[in-house]
Amino acid sequence: MTKILDFLFPPSCPLCGDNVGADGTLCAACWGKINWIGNPKCWVCGYPFPADMDLGPRPLCPVCAAGKSELDWLRSACVYDAASREIMLPFKHSGTLKFGRVMSNAMIGAMRDFDASTLPAPDLIIPVPLAYFRIWKRGYNQAAVLARPIAAHLEIPVDVSSVRRTYRRDMGHLNQRQRRENIKGVFHVRRPKNIVGKNILIVDDVMTTGATFSELRRVLKRAGAANVYGISFCRVVKAI
Ligand SMILES: [Zn+2]
Ligand SMILES: [Zn+2]
Repeated sequence: MTKILDFLFPPSCPLCGDNVGADGTLCAACWGKINWIGNPKCWVCGYPFPADMDLGPRPLCPVCAAGKSELDWLRSACVYDAASREIMLPFKHSGTLKFGRVMSNAMIGAMRDFDASTLPAPDLIIPVPLAYFRIWKRGYNQAAVLARPIAAHLEIPVDVSSVRRTYRRDMGHLNQRQRRENIKGVFHVRRPKNIVGKNILIVDDVMTTGATFSELRRVLKRAGAANVYGISFCRVVKAI
């Protein structure tokens, strides 16, 4: 059946429309424009270091070295820039789900860094919750759409009901301190028994300042979560 569909609708690059080998992939030219995060990177938070630095097998950024990591483990597939925005924005705002396939595939790739010999494997995935008002306006939670293929790959469940989010004004134009204040208290654990003792992987499309991940982690840990990990398609990388 897949073969027949491929014949009728050959897989195409969502950015330029060129034929590609499989759905959910970019053509080589578009792939090359994305600033994928490789090594070396911070072993805990995934912060990318300059390519020519040899920092040993488990380098730490200054934030994680000081024990101030936002999460117990965090990765992003690529840097947030003009190229990754071309994938992310149509997905986020117009529901173009073929971009979502590219994003979740890239995130599954970034999960390969997870070292199950030193960290307990995630038990469940919680997509960063959207307030009901936003889901109603948009029609879907983009983080939940990204989470499903990742959960299928890891063979763990997605939990979209244990944590709720209160509606607040958009954070678009706020700085880091204002974002932290604006996000404080928006998440509520509704079903603590699903959280207690669990190793939770939270999923979002983009990490900007880390304030959302950080607040969600705080709430999950307070509800008894063991470890809280995170994965996003892209992240803002600023000098630290
Ligand atoms: Zn292309
Ligand atoms: Zn770090």
